[in-house]
Amino acid sequence: MRRFIYGISLYLMLTVAALAQFNKNIIIAHRGAWKTNNLPENSLASLNQAVALHCHGSEFDIHMTADGVPVVNHDHDFYRMDIEKSTYEQLLAKKHPNGESIPTLKEYLIAGMNQKETKLILEIKTSRISPERSIELTDKVYALVKELNAQKWAEYICFSWEVGKRLHELDKKAKIAYLEGDKTPAEAKAAGYTGLDYHYSIYKKHPEWIAEAHKLGLTVNAWTVNDRTEMQRLIDQHVDYITTNEPELLFEVLKKE
Ligand code: MG
Repeated sequence: MRRFIYGISLYLMLTVAALAQFNKNIIIAHRGAWKTNNLPENSLASLNQAVALHCHGSEFDIHMTADGVPVVNHDHDFYRMDIEKSTYEQLLAKKHPNGESIPTLKEYLIAGMNQKETKLILEIKTSRISPERSIELTDKVYALVKELNAQKWAEYICFSWEVGKRLHELDKKAKIAYLEGDKTPAEAKAAGYTGLDYHYSIYKKHPEWIAEAHKLGLTVNAWTVNDRTEMQRLIDQHVDYITTNEPELLFEVLKKE
């Protein structure tokens, strides 16, 4: 009997440990948490800060260099060097003010997988050169996630409708949210998306999309919400996530709920 009870308690403890992963809040740090500590957006430091704050997710943007290396940066340019037209080696000539070089996606994923509290929200940027290049980047990103076994951490977002469809083809279990805001929840669902991630103004125009998305099993995220009133409005509308440059403020608003 004692052994039985021991077995059951061990089982329960392990179950709890397995479930106690990824912070259960609605906060996604936009380009990491950079603002308060004046860190470079999309740097490893901003990712680590989002983890330190206990955000549910940390978002970042991915481009592909001229020689095919997926790297993390918001703009198409890294300190005035066009990422798509520069080799990775050439980009190393520039540094963020905190001394970091442009992170490769591999470095970023490895750093993110050092913890199990904060999800990694990968935005696949649309190529300015060609739609084919966007798909090539998508394939590379997914291959890397698979190689590193990062599926549990990784969720995807994209403005390109085709990029999201490709991700769904590659992995039927992948979580993929659409950013552009021009599709109904039903259209997104039919294309294999698992969520909407629209600018908050879109939900003002189409408040019904939130309930419609939920009915279809889609998640609802809103970007980029930095204002207390807008945060509260979205919380009241029961969105699943809010992407913000002000994660500390959102924690504060949630505490007052
Ligand atoms: Mg982004």
